[in-house]
Amino acid sequence: VRLQATAAVAAAAAAAVAARTFVVPASVVAALRSRYSLSDASLLLALIPPARAAARPPVSAFRVGAAALGVSGAAYLGANLEFAGAPLHAAVHAEQFAVAVARGASERQLTALATSAAPCGHCRQFLWELPGAPALRCITAGGSSGGPSADAGTPLAQLLPAAFGPADLLGANAAPLLLQPRHNGVQLAPGGTAALAAARAAGDAALVEAIYAALAAANGAHAPYSGCPAGMSLLREGHLGAAGGFAVHAGGAAESAAFNPSLTPLHAACVAAAAAGCAPDWSDVTRAVLVERPGAPVAYAAATAALLAAFAPRCALTVLPAEGNLSPQWKTRAEELTPLA
Ligand SMILES: [Zn+2]
Repeated sequence: VRLQATAAVAAAAAAAVAARTFVVPASVVAALRSRYSLSDASLLLALIPPARAAARPPVSAFRVGAAALGVSGAAYLGANLEFAGAPLHAAVHAEQFAVAVARGASERQLTALATSAAPCGHCRQFLWELPGAPALRCITAGGSSGGPSADAGTPLAQLLPAAFGPADLLGANAAPLLLQPRHNGVQLAPGGTAALAAARAAGDAALVEAIYAALAAANGAHAPYSGCPAGMSLLREGHLGAAGGFAVHAGGAAESAAFNPSLTPLHAACVAAAAAGCAPDWSDVTRAVLVERPGAPVAYAAATAALLAAFAPRCALTVLPAEGNLSPQWKTRAEELTPLA
């Protein structure tokens, strides 16, 4: 029965990878649980192998898989991404990938996260941005997280003692945390609206969709430290079989209080493209749109152009200016933000 359960759960994870969502729906998770009486740990650990197989580590050849459980009941898969030709710090870790997938699916909170290798310090710090982070149960294959009970998982607070986190920079007004809903009040500045109008006039439906996707990603970005919400979309074109022959993959910045573990808009969009099955060498990523605020204390345009030139040289980058509720001292509070009409 144990082997059957493991195989059934792995099949669900393989289906999520094949469906190019990396999401195991809550209904599927619930059915697996009721049939096999699975603990969170046995469920999540059995989800990992198909995710790990989807890793893209051209530098280390070290594949990492992750599976996270949300309060919605759905599970989210992750795998590590490395970028040939780029510095090591450009990598996306499997835990970050799973969190980005959860964000894309509008998950509100994670309760447990399993990984094929113990979470590194960078990831422990990144995960500290999540709501309920201290209690997030971290489970590692082989139970090597060092916790008292490998099966129940080790609370993140125990893996990151004396943590520096959102409250240290933002005080009591740290909400919304990563994954919590927000609308950043970002809109295109005149230069951006002109580019959008030009794309419309040219009948460039792919670019129009990519601009809207980048703008939506900027509005969902977690950028409380810089006050510079930025969003990015990657456009794949040709031979995709979809209507119009293109696909758009977007993501927004996910900042960390420790800054360095932050996920850039490019990396968040790369997670979306990788989950959707883009080419292993990124050769089908032909255009990209970055929406950010000109003159802000944080800027992504130059670094994004350099990284794309390194690992996706065919990709043409368009940077569009944003404006809105963006003062440097801005503290995001979802209830104070007014959605755009
Ligand atoms: Zn890591």
